[in-house]
Formats: sequence, structure tokens, C-alpha cells
Amino acid sequence: MTPTPATPTPHIAVLGSANMDLVAYVAEAPRRGETVTGREFRTVPGGKGANQAIAAARAGATVSMIGAVGADTFGAQLRSSLEHSGVDTDLLRRVDTPTGTAHIVVDDEGGNAIVVVPGANGTVKGLTPGDEAVIASADALLLQLEIPLKGVLTAARAARRHGVRTVLTPAPAQPLPAELLAATDLLLPNEHEAAALTGITDDPPAAARTLLAQVPEVVITLGSQGSLYAARGAEPVTVPASRVTAVDTTGAGDTFAGTLAVALAEGKSVPDALHWASSAAALSVQRPGASASMPCRKEIDAQAA
Ligand code: ADP
Repeated sequence: MTPTPATPTPHIAVLGSANMDLVAYVAEAPRRGETVTGREFRTVPGGKGANQAIAAARAGATVSMIGAVGADTFGAQLRSSLEHSGVDTDLLRRVDTPTGTAHIVVDDEGGNAIVVVPGANGTVKGLTPGDEAVIASADALLLQLEIPLKGVLTAARAARRHGVRTVLTPAPAQPLPAELLAATDLLLPNEHEAAALTGITDDPPAAARTLLAQVPEVVITLGSQGSLYAARGAEPVTVPASRVTAVDTTGAGDTFAGTLAVALAEGKSVPDALHWASSAAALSVQRPGASASMPCRKEIDAQAA
């Protein structure tokens, strides 16, 4: 009997942010001029770039993270958290600007207030020759918008030049230059980002159709409602989410992005890839934390079966 050939391990490049999330849990968030005593404090590795890199690595890809952290303790912790999940950090620069931080206050009702200080992420404005070489050799490039647009655009153009598929998560939501959309293969907004980009609320299929004027493929994630896939010349398809009890949906979108890129790079069909990514995201929402909750390949395969 001929053995089934193993699927070659895909190589995913991620250009984006790495932040340390500083989370204080309080009964009620302080108002201006007020001081309140918090109940608990946690430091949690985050940033959309780092989260997507970890999701893709745990899902079985070889992953290169391109970005920047400061020459400080948070930077060292973020690097080691990425490496712990198997992400290659050779292209994660160590710069003189402090590591990016997100200062998060979570109240007893689960509401939050967040201040993001981009720090070192703000220095990622272009590519080194080494970055470009890694992008050129990758099966896909994952991008988000937590670093300067100039850096995102430069990387998207490099990927396009080398025929590498670009997957852009347009978060945080902001108007996008036409050149960036022109260099994007798959746009991956959540429902709110899709509405912000199109002005169309409560109608994801219509928002997807509008976005298809600028990019060839769109996936809109819809939280517990699943996701919607649309490509030019075809009717949008909705893929339901697994029915699970969510305890923490932080990082669900990043898990979905990282695992979807892996599945597509492995040559799974679009419906299979969406089902696999939904299975991974469903696992992540059942556990607390963003990157800490991301599943490994075996768990995803079992959930998807
Ligand atoms: P983001 O985290 O970017 O806001 P979403 O909330 O749309 O993104 O979630 C991304 C994906 O995670 C969804 O498409 C879905 O597959 C999965 N997901 C999110 N919330 C749940 C949930 N409550 N139950 C099951 N799956 C979920």
C-alpha cells in the first residue's frame, strides 16, 4: 500500500504587533480624578500580530514573526511567549522604543476600557531585505493594522510582487488606502469592521458584496453566528460556528485568522478551511485568555471531525 503523503508544512509570515496587555480587574472603572482599588492584575501577551502568529504555529505551520519589541522586560517576555509556541522570532526586532502595551480595565460587568500605547510597534514602517526574503518564501502573509499603515502597505506590496497570498485583518477599523486593498487577496474583517469599511450595518452579505469591488475574496466573522465567505462571481456562503459555551472570546478572531491561513496554505477547500478555522476559534472561546487559549493541531482536528 502506498503511504499517504504527509501534507507539507506550510510557512506563514506574520507582520504585525506584539503588545503586553496589562489588565486590572475592578468592581467599577474609575472616573477622571478618581482612584479605585483593583481586585486583581495580570500581564497577558497580546497584540494581533503575535496572537495570529501563535495561532498559526499551534495549528502546525512554520511561522515567522516580523515586528518590533523594546529592549525591556515585556519585550523579552513577548519573545519567549512566541518562541514557546514555536514561532520564529529572528525578525522580531529589538528597538530603543518601549514594548507596546495595552492598559485594560475590566469591570465586574465584563465591560472594559483600553488605552493602547503602540511603542515599539510604531517603528515597523518598512521591511529589511531579510523580512522581504522571508515573505517571498512564505505561503501566506498575515497582516493587521496595529503597526503603521506604511509598514503594512510595504509588506503587502512585497507579497504581491512575490506571488504570496495576503490575508488582511482590518483591525482596528480605519479607512483603508485603495493601494492596500489592491494588494490584498483575502480581507478578513469582523462584523463591526466590515460595517465600518462599508457603512453597511446588519447586512453582512451586502457588506461582503461591496468589499468584493476592491478585493477578490472576503471572510466576515460573525462571532457566535459563524462566518461568511464571499468571492467574486459567487453567492456568499455562511459557515455556522460550533455551538459552545463561551467563557472568553478575546482573540477568537486572531485564532480564526491564523488557522484559516494554515488550512488554505495546506490546500484545504474553502468550506473545509472555514470549518477548521471555526473549530479552532470555538475551542479558543471556551478557555480564558487570548494566545493562552489557542488550540493545537490535534485538538482542532478532533473538534473539526
Ligand atoms: P473578533 O474576535 O475579531 O471580534 P469574532 O467575534 O467574529 O471575531 O469571532 C471570530 C470567530 O470565532 C467566529 O467567526 C466564530 O467562528 C468564532 N467564535 C466567536 N465567538 C464564538 C462563540 N461564542 N461560539 C462559537 N464560536 C465563536
